[in-house]
Amino acid sequence: DRFKHDYLEVRGLRVEFDGFVAVRDVDLTVTQGDLRFLIGPNGAGKTTLIDAVTGLVRATGSVSFGRTALLGRSTHRIARAGVGRTFQTASVFEELTVLQNLDIAAGARRAPLTLLRRRPATPEAVEHALETVGLTALRDVPAGVLAHGQKQWLEIGMLLVQDAHLLLLDEPVAGMTQAEREETGQLLRRIGSQRVVVVVEHDMEFLRSFADSVTVMHQGRVLAEGTVNEVQNDPAVVEVYLGA
Ligand code: ADP
Repeated sequence: DRFKHDYLEVRGLRVEFDGFVAVRDVDLTVTQGDLRFLIGPNGAGKTTLIDAVTGLVRATGSVSFGRTALLGRSTHRIARAGVGRTFQTASVFEELTVLQNLDIAAGARRAPLTLLRRRPATPEAVEHALETVGLTALRDVPAGVLAHGQKQWLEIGMLLVQDAHLLLLDEPVAGMTQAEREETGQLLRRIGSQRVVVVVEHDMEFLRSFADSVTVMHQGRVLAEGTVNEVQNDPAVVEVYLGA
């Protein structure tokens, strides 16, 4: 497996918007099997960091996934390097069934990847993704009628059939019921054991249950990093959260 020992490595990352520095001096390493949560107050730079890794905003410094340098590449090249993300609002094709959504994702993978001589997503891979995200029974249901949580799972399934091995998930449990959160946590653990997963999330209860490690951002920088307990007891983190 060419992704086996892959990891996300960010060094000296900086993003500016018209002179406003949204991300600065960010170093971040996330390995496979280390389900990493990214937290921080509003405006801390979490989404901008993900945007920089996925090529949506220009950044300086360095970002690599495994042996592939990502910075300066197009969003398409970055996706082909095995990097996938979700947004706070799930974007699925509402009129198409769950299975058709996955097939489209698999097809989107097929064309460009042929150029890289990677295997296309097989029907078996689609079945496996369906099973992994727990939507097998809903395969023939139009995505538009899925519950909010199920749409998020479908989106994650679409990343899986695209063979994303670095997944960046922006607030996947926002708006979910408690039961959906629990399901999502289990799903993230399953995926995270074999892939590099970074989750932006605020809910401390959710973090306590599922995070292997946490990176705390504040004003564009990394403020603290460690286990949930370590960062919760970090005086700098306490100050930021009480002051907010
Ligand atoms: P978070 O995700 O942690 O809430 P963001 O990454 O969305 O924070 O934003 C970090 C900072 O960058 C904020 O002050 C935000 O207003 C600013 N910002 C984000 N995107 C843009 C943009 N396209 N243009 C200007 N400022 C932006």
